[in-house]
Amino acid sequence: MTIHIPFNKPCIVGSELIYVGQAVAGGHASGDGPFTRRAQKLMEDRFGARRILLTTSCTAALEIAALLCDFGPGDEVILPSFTFVSTANAAVLRGATPVFVDIRPDTLNIDERLIEAAITPRTRAIFPIHYAGVACEMDAIMDIATRHGLLVVEDAAQGVFAKYKGQWLGTIGHMGCYSFHETKNFSCGEGGALVINDPKLEKRAEILREKGTNRSQFLRGQVDKYTWVDVGSSYVPSDMLAAFLVGQLENMEKITARRGEIDRLYTMLLAPLIELGLIQIAHVPLHCMPNYHMFYLLTAGLEERTALIAHLRAAGILAVFHYVPLHSSPFMKARNLPLADLPVTDDTSRRLLRLPMYFDLTDRDVAEVAAGVLGFYSERMVE
Ligand SMILES: *Cc1c(COP(=O)(O)O)cnc(C)c1O
Repeated sequence: MTIHIPFNKPCIVGSELIYVGQAVAGGHASGDGPFTRRAQKLMEDRFGARRILLTTSCTAALEIAALLCDFGPGDEVILPSFTFVSTANAAVLRGATPVFVDIRPDTLNIDERLIEAAITPRTRAIFPIHYAGVACEMDAIMDIATRHGLLVVEDAAQGVFAKYKGQWLGTIGHMGCYSFHETKNFSCGEGGALVINDPKLEKRAEILREKGTNRSQFLRGQVDKYTWVDVGSSYVPSDMLAAFLVGQLENMEKITARRGEIDRLYTMLLAPLIELGLIQIAHVPLHCMPNYHMFYLLTAGLEERTALIAHLRAAGILAVFHYVPLHSSPFMKARNLPLADLPVTDDTSRRLLRLPMYFDLTDRDVAEVAAGVLGFYSERMVE
């Protein structure tokens, strides 16, 4: 059967296409034009962030952040193994060694209680990721970082428009990284942003992002020519993408409200399975304001998850899983580092399943997906 309820679908919710047209008609389609400034200002004002720079992706923002950390060979970065590769690659590209820490079984975020034991004299930074848009325990993480003199880079790829104790995710660590990839809540296809919370990092961040030149200062009239002053790369997105993004960022409430409705509907419809202990869903601590990035469930084990995916696929519904834990990836195995024991990460990666979640998903679609999951478990209980 062909898939009629995909896992994800990009959406247009406001003036995205009008703005893209204006970006081209205005004669500035390359980077750092009026729409880039508008997107950055919109987020800075909204999130109370001192400086936000649009980038071509969250991966690019993480790379700039790792450059700003000034890692040397042998330096260590603490992060979860249960994350997307870009969190680790940013550090590895700079010659640093990733040191993986297990996750909490409730939020699937890095377990802050295990961080201190992973710190060595070579540790330079912590890269926590806010899984599914639910915040890590940032008070504990920032406290450890301060006591050990470490930098904190929040991978807030999934955490845009979510809060921890009243603070927007991405604005709590020294730096934060956002993603506007198609699969994220607010998107321009491919895109990202670097949030710079430590003022000392701002000037160099601009230079690294502008191919190692002081072009940003030149555009502001602060220098009379621009030239090569540092390393760097091409991390500036086209103003056409920024224009599309502005259309999405102007509608953050609307998008989040709909995702919240979908989340509550899934939760309500799947309640019988949750009450019977057959599946487990996300836990959101009271001090965390979520952005409903994902709706995931945890099955009893790998075999059950594989069968459930096949059951849904046969009904034309695409449900997906992630992550292959980074510590068990071919790349890490080939590096022959001491093997970490990460039982919660290993267990979660075998049981987690993500259900379709996107702005245009209808109540009927949600009901159909939930019916598929309920049907699967009722067939199993009869067997
Ligand atoms: C999506 C994602 C990324 C990568 O984002 P891109 O914008 O595609 O580079 C990085 N980290 C996490 C946790 C993500 O979910």
